[in-house]
Amino acid sequence: MPGINLTRDEARDRSIMVDVDSYEIELDLTTGEKTFGSVTTVRFRCPDDAERTWLDFIAPAVTEVVLNGTSLDPVTVYDGSRITLEGLQAENEVRVVAEAAYMHTGEGLHRFVDPVDGEVYLYTQFEVPDARRVFACFEQPDLKATFTFAVTAPRHWQVVSNSPTPEPSPVEGDESAARWAFEPTPRLSTYVTAIVAGPYHVVRGEYEAKEGTIPLGLFCRVSLAEHLDADELFDVTRRGFGFFEDVFGLAYPFAKYDQLFVPDFNAGAMENAACVTHHEDYVFRSRVTDAAYERRAETILHEMAHMWFGDLVTMRWWDDLWLNESFATWASVLAEEEATRWIEAWTTFAVSEKLWALRQDQLPSTHPISADIRDLDDVQVNFDGITYAKGASVLKQLVAWVGREEFLAGVRAYFAEHAWGNTTLQDLFAQLEKTSGRDLSAWAGQWLETAGVNTLRPEVETIDDAYTSVTVLQEAGEEHPTLRDHRIAMGLYDDSPDGFVRRRRVELDVTGERTEVPDLVGEAVPDLLLVNDDDLTFAKIRLDDRSSETVVRGIGRLSSSLARALCWTATTDMLRDAELPARDYVELVLGGIQRETDISVVQTVLAAGRTAVDLFADPLDRMMLSARWASGLRRLAGVMEAGSDSQLAISRAWAAVAASPEHVEQLWSLLDTTDGGDILPGLQVDTDLRWSLLHRLVIIGAAGDAHLAAELDRDDTATGRRQAAYALAARPTEQAKADAWAQTVESDELPNALLRATVDGFHQPEHLELVRPYVGRYLDAIPRLWAERTTDTAKTIIVRLFPRLLADAEIAETIRSWLNEAELPPAPHRLIVEGLADMERALRAQARDRTAGQAARRH
Ligand SMILES: [Zn+2]
Repeated sequence: MPGINLTRDEARDRSIMVDVDSYEIELDLTTGEKTFGSVTTVRFRCPDDAERTWLDFIAPAVTEVVLNGTSLDPVTVYDGSRITLEGLQAENEVRVVAEAAYMHTGEGLHRFVDPVDGEVYLYTQFEVPDARRVFACFEQPDLKATFTFAVTAPRHWQVVSNSPTPEPSPVEGDESAARWAFEPTPRLSTYVTAIVAGPYHVVRGEYEAKEGTIPLGLFCRVSLAEHLDADELFDVTRRGFGFFEDVFGLAYPFAKYDQLFVPDFNAGAMENAACVTHHEDYVFRSRVTDAAYERRAETILHEMAHMWFGDLVTMRWWDDLWLNESFATWASVLAEEEATRWIEAWTTFAVSEKLWALRQDQLPSTHPISADIRDLDDVQVNFDGITYAKGASVLKQLVAWVGREEFLAGVRAYFAEHAWGNTTLQDLFAQLEKTSGRDLSAWAGQWLETAGVNTLRPEVETIDDAYTSVTVLQEAGEEHPTLRDHRIAMGLYDDSPDGFVRRRRVELDVTGERTEVPDLVGEAVPDLLLVNDDDLTFAKIRLDDRSSETVVRGIGRLSSSLARALCWTATTDMLRDAELPARDYVELVLGGIQRETDISVVQTVLAAGRTAVDLFADPLDRMMLSARWASGLRRLAGVMEAGSDSQLAISRAWAAVAASPEHVEQLWSLLDTTDGGDILPGLQVDTDLRWSLLHRLVIIGAAGDAHLAAELDRDDTATGRRQAAYALAARPTEQAKADAWAQTVESDELPNALLRATVDGFHQPEHLELVRPYVGRYLDAIPRLWAERTTDTAKTIIVRLFPRLLADAEIAETIRSWLNEAELPPAPHRLIVEGLADMERALRAQARDRTAGQAARRH
């Protein structure tokens, strides 16, 4: 629970006092449905003067604590989260016997029952501090140790951990059970240890690595087995290993590599050493676009990069979480672009990660990349767009700054020097300074220790269609006034029969407020002058007038996918900054998306278009704009190639907003087909698309409970139940909202996946009057949610039930004054501040759109 904290100071003191040698952990998974047996034996050393320390452990019943042969009274030494150990010796052994609890929140040891066959599936998720929900431990990343797991479980199960799975041995007196005794792991941090157990379906493979053969395993629930595309998954995996072993200059450090697709997972994936868990939505049971395959490959490569950066070499404390995540993100996109079929992975990065980073970096809660993580609360709300996306963007800029080969040489030296140890940022920088010969302290000061994003804007003067001067202007916000040194490229694009083609590229350093670009003086004025071409730096980009016109007129005709992505990101950012009215953005998308060939970009831009309508449009004109958006998408869906990814993506976007009687009729007709019939010929109407169509019909009140029940009958699976939970909360009735509220805010019975689906269904643009009465109740519930639920659950509810769609001045004021009065802990306070800032941004964009509407009406 969020009250169960650990501070950086405590962790530092403890790591001075304690050297951990080993854990032996005995888990018995046959003792019941609520709890399991947990016996931990920890061996650790202390210097002479250490007298007391503690073990972290959260369990309903600790029955035995034995320190150096002396039994301690659990009632005295255990307070619910810590076991106090006093009278330490130079060498210590402590044994803790307990019953620990299964979780249904995706933290600790999660227990899931498959509705299809009643089978039980378990997996652990320990980052940040939840190994302590399974065994007693020193829960901090710099107290590494070896782990020897032994697991008793039903005999027909698979049991997987960080070490290779051994042959199980019989359990005396229980023929239905078996015991798996794993070999000790190398020295690991607690948060990357793992146990996955259940009757998982498994496919095995191999990778011929530098130093011998690495056994590979893929696991998923039996009821998903038919959808597991093992060949494709192994292919990405092998390519990743080949790439990373090469560029990291170090063989894969573990004995095998298992990837497990697990139910109810809260994140995309987790880098448990040699035992990576993935969200099982990555096993595609319905048709998805290539954007989903690309994202999955990125995730696979991200977790794999962590095997070296994170698991082999680990941050000392969570201050360097950003480096851990940014490095894995950067490395995964690099590997994807250079070693897989997604050769334009940086294009996806330029729209998805960059927009995420831009949003986060302009919130009041933004922070330097190098964050001050005082305690566990701080880190748990810091898995954000700064830590992942801005960090990775800035790392990309660092690579441009020091040079790619120099950067990789530094990384290789870093791995070699710190293998199996813990580090800070300085350890990496020391190597990079050696290999590049550059002093990075000024760079770090500008990029890592200050918050906020710069805007780069071209200022041009011309005579007779040639430049007489080109200047890059750099701006910074008032709150975060730092101007930075940027290594950038500028691209000049001209119209041609092949579209807008790059004529010239210049690379330069931008410093201070004004940077002249003498190289471009005398150059003919292009149709598009693109600042930050090739996306080397992290900045907001603006276009000059002529370039803006080019983008509006023909963004789809830009020949380079990365250049198009940069223009999409720039215009989306202008929408968010109230510089581009929502109605104009909608037209830009409807006009440009048809020629966009990068499906990840298509989907990102479609999502932004939807946000423009729902959030950034003048509320008085929203109905009109929404109808325009729906009819435009319907027209586009009709002209896209039958069976193509674009057809699927645009059809889904259309179905999500369809409202006219004619469109609703078409949704019903599609449900009677498997191939789109003559409505959208070639559209594969499969399980998940059926649910999407039905969701829309439910939201607008066209489909009722009987339809939902019938669909759940067709698809009574874990995913089907999630889809149904969303639909139930998305019904347009007071009762439906009251039920959803009671199940999520008032009760903690729902497992995490159903909880998430329910809160996601609650707010709909069409239901604003139904949900408006809940704003006050939402605010009232926050302190209690934070105090009583686990961190992940509290965060899920608070963020996803924030009334973002209800953006208006009155509600913003209600939230603002509530924030001033409420005495919240910093973490939930931050979540509300962020929601409010998004709302205020929406109000500014709405005002901009209103002005544009008034101007249009005057003409
Ligand atoms: Zn990661």
